[in-house]
Amino acid sequence: MGRNITRALIGLAALAFTALPVSGKTGPATTVKAPPVSLHITRAPGNAVRAEYRLARPARALHFAPHLDGYRARDWRTLASEFRWVRDGDDERIERIDGRPFTQLSLDIPVRYSALEKAYAPFSPFSDGGMLVYSGHFQTCPALPCKGTEPLAVTIDAEGETIGVGGRRSANRATFVSREEGTYVYIGGAEPVATAGFLAIVDPALQTSLRDHLLESLPQSMREFAAIYGELKITPELYVSLDPRPPSGTSLSSQGGTLPGQVFIHLYGDGWRKPINLGEVLWLDWFFAHEAAHFFQRAGTNDVIGPDSEAWIHEGGADAMAALALRDRGSAMSAYVDRRVAEARKACAAGLAQVALNTASRTGKFDLHYQCGMLIALAIDADLRRASSGARGLHDVNRRFFATVRAGTPWNGRSFLEAARHSGVSAPTLAAITAITSRKLADPGRQIDTMLQQAGVDTAAL
Ligand SMILES: [Zn+2]
Repeated sequence: MGRNITRALIGLAALAFTALPVSGKTGPATTVKAPPVSLHITRAPGNAVRAEYRLARPARALHFAPHLDGYRARDWRTLASEFRWVRDGDDERIERIDGRPFTQLSLDIPVRYSALEKAYAPFSPFSDGGMLVYSGHFQTCPALPCKGTEPLAVTIDAEGETIGVGGRRSANRATFVSREEGTYVYIGGAEPVATAGFLAIVDPALQTSLRDHLLESLPQSMREFAAIYGELKITPELYVSLDPRPPSGTSLSSQGGTLPGQVFIHLYGDGWRKPINLGEVLWLDWFFAHEAAHFFQRAGTNDVIGPDSEAWIHEGGADAMAALALRDRGSAMSAYVDRRVAEARKACAAGLAQVALNTASRTGKFDLHYQCGMLIALAIDADLRRASSGARGLHDVNRRFFATVRAGTPWNGRSFLEAARHSGVSAPTLAAITAITSRKLADPGRQIDTMLQQAGVDTAAL
């Protein structure tokens, strides 16, 4: 992935559900309702965790959504074989084989990296025995309907280790509520490095040159964006894990993304153990610049991000912000940026010959939002910079757009292009973008080039 930004983020509250009476200052004592299900995670022998669900009332099943292509049924084993997993449409449930209700369920789960289609990895193991656990896949319901986003009270016990969750770190034990799309929880012994604007946990086995480079590259993008969009109010966590037991046949593989307050990348494959020329992993700089851009999109809009059908705004926008941030970092990086833009132009033209951009997400062509979206954002950028030497191009449009979203305007293509128009983007460029984003094109290659050329992008150099 490396490509996730989630919508309508409510994030994670480091609050504990409690059944104890709570005294109000003015009113009588009230009782906070116990959650219907709670989860207790502990380390188990043999590089595994034990996950124990406790139900407030007996239920016949625990429901999970989505089914993750059978990952849970494969890896989440009950201690006694009294339970079974049952697929239920896009979802799944675990139930007793004899159909009787239960109030407790214990699972043994190996800590290993599993690449899941369109979902975060359940675990990202670190070389030193630490791990990230993705809480979202544990969220469950004792009854239907179940969206998979229901709050779950989680307790983690890890004697002698640090648990990092919701921006806090605690020793031995942590309690929190996993909600919405969940969060990655760190369990391990590594000390975070405080870099500019980040709390970073980078796998100790990562070669020093790469580690030092990453600890420089990401903060640099953050600083550059902060100078334009203002400082973030949060200190995001950065996790870079290096798989001690990578799946076979992986050389220089990775999966990463962001969740509220977190950016993470899991590196797996033998290639990471061999000497790495930094020039060969410029895509890592791009990845981090792209994810850094998402933090500023979220911060600028109070976490309102629009629908997948218009993901060109945030995914393409983040790629364009990465391109703008990286193109001034030396000749190798600037050549890399040019290559990415040229590849995007090719991929966007080929893709839009098949589908319209506004149906790309539904038809499994989500990548077009990155590729075409970046070209659109770069056209906007060039158009504005050509018109005025003091203009900050795309950033001016973004700031205006974010302000309107904060004020209640929906995050969508119409309001984004309205912000572009108010910022001074020319009518021909806006017309070209409107065509590209709203309908099936007759000759997408030509129409994309027209947009770029009108805006002043030198397509001959691509
Ligand atoms: Zn993204």
